[in-house]
Order: sequence, then structure tokens, then C-alpha cells
Amino acid sequence: MRYWAYLAGKIFFCAAFMYGLLCLLDHFFPADNHHHIIPPGILLYMLLMGLWFLASSGLLFVCIWAQRCRCRVCLRRLRMPVETGSWGGMLLLGRPRIEYICPYGHGTLKLAELQISGLENPEWNPNGEIWEELCASAHDADERP
Ligand SMILES: [Zn+2]
Repeated sequence: MRYWAYLAGKIFFCAAFMYGLLCLLDHFFPADNHHHIIPPGILLYMLLMGLWFLASSGLLFVCIWAQRCRCRVCLRRLRMPVETGSWGGMLLLGRPRIEYICPYGHGTLKLAELQISGLENPEWNPNGEIWEELCASAHDADERP
């Protein structure tokens, strides 16, 4: 839930910024009330609107792309990429993938190295209660005389 709220917040912030930029562009190019066939400055306005559209699309792409490599629990960037599998030993080791891990041990993310049939969804595997198990063994060691 927190993961999706963070993504929605980023997209909302970027949309608000781009809407402000759009209002600024409209302020400098007011509507034509003189009924010209080709209003003066329309080419510059169209060029700026095209650039605005490209910037908006790029910003949306960056928001989604950066969100893919974040921990689903703590929202930190995933680290320590490890390559697994190989094409030569595909039957034994599986297809080549890159695994990222949360630095606080919340889970791992598996990304396919080669996306043959379009963009595949990354596979998120939560580690579960790994820290509680480790702490429990430490508590057991403390309780022993
Ligand atoms: Zn985490």
C-alpha cells in the first residue's frame, strides 16, 4: 500500500509541476481574438507544446522506471545486483536474471536479463521473517548459560 501511495504521490507531484508549466505557456501565448487564419506565433507555440508533451511523457516514464527498483516495504532503492542463470545451462540454472536485494533484507527482486516477449513484470519475493529468525537464535544464545 505504501509502495503504491509513494508512486501516486510522485506522479501527482510531477503532474502538478507540468500543469504549472502548461499554465505558464498559456500565459505567454494568449488566445487569438482577432480571427487570423494563421495566428502569429503559432509555430513557436506548437513547438513548445510538443516539447511540453515530450517532457511530460519522459517524467512519467522516469517515475515508473525508478519505482520498479524500490523495496516494496521500506521504499529504499534495491542494491547488490547479482547475475544468475546462463543461456548455456538454461535447463539447470534457468534463464539469465539479475537479482536485487533490499539492504535491510525485506526481499529480493528478480528481473529478466533479456525481455524477449515485451516488458515482463519483475518478480518480487519477500524474505518474510528472516530478521526475527536471526534475532530469535541470538536470544536463544543469550539465554543459554
Ligand atoms: Zn526494504
